[in-house]
Amino acid sequence: MKRSIPHARLRKIGAWVFVDHFGPTEQVEGMTVAAHPHTGLQTVTWLFDGEIDHRDSLGTAQRVTPGSLNLMTAGSGVSHSERSLAGSNTLHAVQLWIALPDEVRHMKPIFEHVSAIPREFFGNIEAHVFVGTLGAAASPATIYSPLLGAQIMVNGTGSIPLNPQWEYGVLNVGGSLNVNGEDLAGDSLWFSEPGLTSLDIAGRGKAIVLGGEPFTEPIVMWWNFIGRTHDDIVHMRSDWNLHTYPPIADRVGGWIPAPDLPNVTLTAR
Ligand code: MN
Repeated sequence: MKRSIPHARLRKIGAWVFVDHFGPTEQVEGMTVAAHPHTGLQTVTWLFDGEIDHRDSLGTAQRVTPGSLNLMTAGSGVSHSERSLAGSNTLHAVQLWIALPDEVRHMKPIFEHVSAIPREFFGNIEAHVFVGTLGAAASPATIYSPLLGAQIMVNGTGSIPLNPQWEYGVLNVGGSLNVNGEDLAGDSLWFSEPGLTSLDIAGRGKAIVLGGEPFTEPIVMWWNFIGRTHDDIVHMRSDWNLHTYPPIADRVGGWIPAPDLPNVTLTAR
């Protein structure tokens, strides 16, 4: 598991507040995550290889496969479990979180599975746009702030138009890539503040492009929760540990208790 954000020097890209790159790993290692909650955010699960069985407290049972989007809008709170399935040799995925704006962060949770992911070519770059719009490709996924999330397959050179008001990141998930003149090593995240009009990419490989309007609401992010104050987090934590969430019917069993809070007041950043 390689976590790119939050990082001491980079906390978010637009409302993207968490970027984890998992694998590629041999399937024997697999992945099993027992029931755990989320609040105040959306989770994106995007697979390059492998299969995951997603179960949640809304009653969803979804097989997650490469090239389709699993978007869980936690809102006031949802819990889920994940289990990688046999059937391919490796598991390779990204898990991303999107902070919800204040006016919707208490909404009822929803789960969306989007299998029709729009594609667009930019020179020798093929983009699969799972969140937001890029060129003529518009994802039907429901989001609550201006954002872009896309997988790109690079086989030569290409130029992706950018919104100069937005900030952007490019995560190399495999291959040899150069972004706007800088070599981008595997597992590395390239970041740009607003002001750029294009992403000029060369090489061969695969990457995730994230973008968004700078998200200016100060948030408190702790464990699997996003709130606005320390007290928000205290309540989210106790709701989970007091078992107020509906149970999940899964083959994983058990649940992950929230850890102890640190002995300091969490402050918004
Ligand atoms: Mn989760």
